[in-house]
Amino acid sequence: MADKFDVIVIGAGPGGYVAAIRAAQLGLKTACVEKWIGKEGKVVFGGTCLNVGCIPSKALLEASHKFVEAKHDFSDMGIEAGDVSMDVKKMMARKDKIVSNLTGGIAGLFKANGVTGIEGTGKVVGAKQVEVTDKDGKATTYEADNIVIAAGSVPVEIPPTPLTEGLIVDSTGALEFQDVPKRLGVIGAGVIGLELGSVWSRLGSEVTVLEAMDSFLPMVDSAIAKETQKLLKKQGLDIKLGARVTGSEVKGKEVVVKYSDAEGEQEMTFDKLIVCVGRRPYTKGVVADGVGVGLDERGFIHVDDQCRTSVPGVYAIGDCVRGQMLAHKASEEGIMVADIIAGHKAEMNYDAIPCVIYTFPEVAWVGMTEQDAKAKGIEVKTGSFPFAASGRAMANNATEGQAKIIADAETDRILGMHIVGQHAGEMIAQGVIALEFGSSAEDLALTCYAHPTMSEAVHEAALAVEGHAIHMA
Ligand code: FAD
Repeated sequence: MADKFDVIVIGAGPGGYVAAIRAAQLGLKTACVEKWIGKEGKVVFGGTCLNVGCIPSKALLEASHKFVEAKHDFSDMGIEAGDVSMDVKKMMARKDKIVSNLTGGIAGLFKANGVTGIEGTGKVVGAKQVEVTDKDGKATTYEADNIVIAAGSVPVEIPPTPLTEGLIVDSTGALEFQDVPKRLGVIGAGVIGLELGSVWSRLGSEVTVLEAMDSFLPMVDSAIAKETQKLLKKQGLDIKLGARVTGSEVKGKEVVVKYSDAEGEQEMTFDKLIVCVGRRPYTKGVVADGVGVGLDERGFIHVDDQCRTSVPGVYAIGDCVRGQMLAHKASEEGIMVADIIAGHKAEMNYDAIPCVIYTFPEVAWVGMTEQDAKAKGIEVKTGSFPFAASGRAMANNATEGQAKIIADAETDRILGMHIVGQHAGEMIAQGVIALEFGSSAEDLALTCYAHPTMSEAVHEAALAVEGHAIHMA
C-alpha cells in the first residue's frame, strides 16, 4: 500500500484540478490522478478544456475572427491592410503554444499548492481505495478518506459516419486541420459545431451544417436564436435544419454524406466532415464492480445536488455527472465538493450557470427563455435592446444583435438574460450576478452603467422591461 491521502481526485480537467487545488488550500492532503498523454508524449493536466476544448477552440476563433476583420472590416474604418492571408500552420502552432503554457501552468499550481500529481489511470477499487496503473502497467493502490471522480467526457460517435483519419473527424480532429478544406460538412448545429464551423468558414471553407432537429438552438430564447441563425447565414454558414444523416461513404479524398430531410433523401460531398453530435461521460472502468457507485444507462454517475454518489466519501463532478457539460460548471462543482469535504457548508445554484457560444457575434444566456417561463405558467414581462442603437456598438463596427431580459411580471425578479452581440460572453456575467442575487429588472434599470459600453444594452433592456428604453423610438 502506498501513501494515504485525505482526498484523491481522478481526472485533472477543470473539474478535477480545481477540486484538488481547493482541497489542498483548505489543508487537506490531496492527490490528483491523470492519464492524458499530450502532444509531447507526456502526461499533461487540464483535461478536455485545456487540451482539445475551450482553449484551443478559442485560440482558433480569435485568430480567424481577426483575419476576417483585417480582410473585410478594417477598410470600413479607413485601415488599408492590403492583401491579407492566413498561415494556417502558424495559427495552429500559436494554439499549441497556448495549450502547452496552460497545461504546464496547472503542474505549477499543483506544486505551489502542495497537490501530488499522480500519472496513470485511476480506478476506484473500494470506498476508500484508488488503484493507479502507470504507463508500464504497474498498479499501485492508494488510500483516501475521500475520492472525487472527475473523469470528464469524450465525443459521441454515430454509426452513419465512422471516424476516418483526416476525412471524418470529431471536434479534436477539427482543431488540427493543417489546410483549409474547400467544402466542409459539420454534423450538429450545437455550440461546438457552430464554433468550429465558424472558424473554417472564416478561413474560406464552404460550410454546410446538418442538424437533425427542426429548431435552431432551442435552449436559447427564440428571438435571440432567430437573430443568430440569420447572422450566421449572412456569414455564409449554410445551416440545414431537419437534416438527419443516414450514411456516408469515403470516396478517395472526399466524403459523400447521405441525409434525409422534409424533401426526401439527399446527398452532399465534402472534403472534410466534422461530427459534433454531443459528448458522453468517460466513466467506463473508472469504478470497479461491487464498489456500489451507481451509473445510469448512458454512463453518467448518479449524484445528488451536492455531487455525492451512492457511496459515502465518494463524489463525482463535471461532465461525468448530470447537468450542462461546461468547464465552469465542472470547476464550481469541484470547489463545492472540496468545501464539503473540508467540513464547510456549500451548495451550487444550478439555475445561474451561464452558457456562451463564441461565434461572432457571441451568443450568451443564463436562466430561462421567455418560452421556458411561459411553459411553466409564469407570467413574464420582457425588455430588449438592439445593438444597432448603441453608440459603442457603432464605434466598434459591431451593431448586430440584441440583449433581452425576461422578468417575472408579478415580482419583477429577473428570470433570464439572453444576448447575441459582440462580447455577449463578457456581458452575461451581469445576468449571472442578477440571478444569483435575486435582482429585479428595476435593480438593473436603476444602476449606473459606464458610457459608452456594450453593457449599456443590458441597462436599456432593463429599462425596457420597466417601461421604455431611453435610446429607442
Ligand atoms: P474533462 O475536461 O474531460 O477532464 C477529465 C480528465 O479526466 C481528462 O484529463 C481525462 O484524461 C481524465 N481521466 C478520465 N478517466 C481517468 C482515469 N480513469 N484516470 C485518470 N485520469 C482520467 N466548455 C466551456 O465551459 N466553455 C467552452 O468554451 C467550451 N468549449 C469547448 C470546445 C470544445 C471543442 C469541446 C470539445 C468542449 C468544450 N467545452 C467548453 C466543454 C469543456 O471542455 C468540458 O465541459 C470540461 O472540460 C469538463 O471538465 P471535466 O473536468 O468534467 O472533464
